Amino acid sequence: MRLIIMGPPGAGKGTQARFIAEHFGIPAISTGDIFRANVSQGTPLGVEAKKYMDAGEYVPDEVTNLMVRNRIDEDDAVSGFLLDGYPRTLAQVEELDGMINFTGHRLDAVVVLTVDQDEIVQRLLQRAEVEGRADDTEDVVRRRQEVYLEQTSPLIEVYKSRDLVHEVDGMGEVDEVTARIFAALDVVPQS
Ligand code: ADP
Repeated sequence: MRLIIMGPPGAGKGTQARFIAEHFGIPAISTGDIFRANVSQGTPLGVEAKKYMDAGEYVPDEVTNLMVRNRIDEDDAVSGFLLDGYPRTLAQVEELDGMINFTGHRLDAVVVLTVDQDEIVQRLLQRAEVEGRADDTEDVVRRRQEVYLEQTSPLIEVYKSRDLVHEVDGMGEVDEVTARIFAALDVVPQS
């Protein structure tokens, strides 16, 4: 299975990604988590990425694409993966197409979590308290929403035109949302 989970910042992608990945026995690959790990280890990649992350902007495509390419080349991703937070730009969509086509596989589905804006902001501010993420201040949260709307939401149409999109209501309890995602994915022919 090769899956993508999409949705605005705070939609609960990371939480759901873990359940989906576990179910299918594939790694959940979160670009945000990989960037954060690099930031905390002080790697050159982390130093570069932090400048953008702290402002709520996207890390440049070349940097992100290379990082994802290396990650999905790892052994545990050979039979599939779930991408959380990638692709986020049209250039990243093209790059991912190239990576997947190269291995003779195809993308199976794109799960899009839909949530309402107020709920999102509340979740992010709550997360700011619990996790203390540097990019969860109110201004940066707002900027991340804008950047998502401008640069990432157009990707949904691209994947819709390929009949890959499963829109799932992301509101409610975590396990309710998980159940909705599984119900949506069961209609996808397995390969
Ligand atoms: P969010 O909750 O905003 O979806 P993530 O943890 O997915 O947060 O990502 C945090 C930050 O990492 C983003 O705001 C961005 O700066 C950077 N980032 C993550 N994925 C990408 C990507 N695919 N392209 C560019 N930047 C990314």
